[in-house]
Amino acid sequence: MGSFPVTTTEFLNPLDHEEFRKQAHLVVDFLADYYKNIEKYLVCSQVKPGFLTDTLPDSAPTQPQPLEAILQDVQNHIIPGLTHWQSPGFFAYFQSNGSTANFLGEMLLTGFNTVGFNWLASPAATELEIVVMEWLLKLLQLPKSFSFSSEGGGVIHGSTCESFVCTLVSARQKKMNRIDSSKRDSTNLWSNLVVYCSDQTHFSFQKASQIVGINPNNVRVVQTTKSMNFQLCPNALLKLIKADVRAGLVPLYLCLTVGTTPTTAVDPLGILCEVAKQFDMWAHVDAAYAGSACICPEFRHFLDGVEGATSFSFNPHKWLLTSLDCCCLWVKDRSDLTKALATDPELLKNYKENEYSKKVVDYKDWQIALSRRFRSMKLWMVMKSYGVSGLREFIRRHVKMAQHFEALLFRDKRFEVVVPRNFATVCFRIAPLSESSTEEDVNRLNKKLLESLNGTGDVYMTHAVVENIFVIRVAIGATLTEEKHVNMLWDMVQKHANALLGSKELES
Ligand SMILES: *Cc1c(COP(=O)(O)O)cnc(C)c1O
Repeated sequence: MGSFPVTTTEFLNPLDHEEFRKQAHLVVDFLADYYKNIEKYLVCSQVKPGFLTDTLPDSAPTQPQPLEAILQDVQNHIIPGLTHWQSPGFFAYFQSNGSTANFLGEMLLTGFNTVGFNWLASPAATELEIVVMEWLLKLLQLPKSFSFSSEGGGVIHGSTCESFVCTLVSARQKKMNRIDSSKRDSTNLWSNLVVYCSDQTHFSFQKASQIVGINPNNVRVVQTTKSMNFQLCPNALLKLIKADVRAGLVPLYLCLTVGTTPTTAVDPLGILCEVAKQFDMWAHVDAAYAGSACICPEFRHFLDGVEGATSFSFNPHKWLLTSLDCCCLWVKDRSDLTKALATDPELLKNYKENEYSKKVVDYKDWQIALSRRFRSMKLWMVMKSYGVSGLREFIRRHVKMAQHFEALLFRDKRFEVVVPRNFATVCFRIAPLSESSTEEDVNRLNKKLLESLNGTGDVYMTHAVVENIFVIRVAIGATLTEEKHVNMLWDMVQKHANALLGSKELES
């Protein structure tokens, strides 16, 4: 009696449905205003390190605070420290384009808040994922062999790095199983496994190899060249593999890219997958950015040869109106994944004994973690809301704007489009001014141009260095970007180049 702590505040119900309705509406209004005013913000945040850690209190509030006050804090303290990825002036990295349908999907999946590690933990989460992965497979015209109707199947991961880790582990397990167990010396084999990529491959492949424990000396990086448009050269690859085999090493995994991060180069898939097959290697095709474009029939040829791959992945969270995190991975043989990643804990066995156990997919065995978000909900919402025609239209609009920007560059002799444009990313620079200007001078000039453009806060672009050439990358793909923004960018590029080249002339 009397031993209960007496509280003065009312008991909180964090899922009171009327409070939920009221507060969620406030947040939607807040975001609608954010999108309405997004062009008023500097695209790339200009704050200094510590801007927030030095400003916000160093302990959590003791008493509950009203939503209005919290949103005021978001406006005053958080938004200044955001780089506005949804801004129409965002041309950096690769875009992560948002959409209303995606937002609604995120609301639903967060609202349901299921943890669908196995089928029974939320049958709809598992089966909707199967449905959308089959829809996408058809849309991308991926070979039947990647489908659930054959031995394959698809899964939604959080990132490409996760897909790399899971397929690397699967490739290793497969290799171990293939090698006669009497001859198997696992420590020796593990340290002898070799993986192959190019110097244009995304750095998350290096990271994944590190995580998996590939011997750091056994990550082969094929050098690419501008003269070959930065494609992975089959002959150079073959040479490396043969040398490794002669040295007693074991080729394991080949990472190919459709739409590389620096310049959107496309590796010749068909012939490279042949090489992989010849040496019994796993061939993965990473189309993180460019995969989305391949839903349009006119761009599908970039995936030609994918039928020779062991696995394929792309990120709707870049260019298919879906937000982080959403990386779609397909494999030709789903048992490759489950043999390497399955666990069978007692706690999750409650339906295993019944008739369903053989019929269902337990996605926990297709990924790193056990728990998983209901990500298919947002992809399903996006595909239903915009339809195939809407999605294609959306991609084509970006490609058209990129063509337009490229045409403007072609017309002005001072500029050079450094690599052929394949999708909606244009790589350009101020061309060497004369025969006598060194590559270093030109690079310095282009770096200055990029800095002065980004310094305005109206646009944000990033660069790449390929074969010692500094290129400015213009990735056109933010949802709100329109032709007028591309024209504005072009005006700015000219104005800032004039200023730079003008002073250059005065110097000499
Ligand atoms: C962006 C990118 C990745 C990594 O993407 P995540 O967002 O980490 O999944 C991998 N490969 C390529 C080619 C990329 O452009």
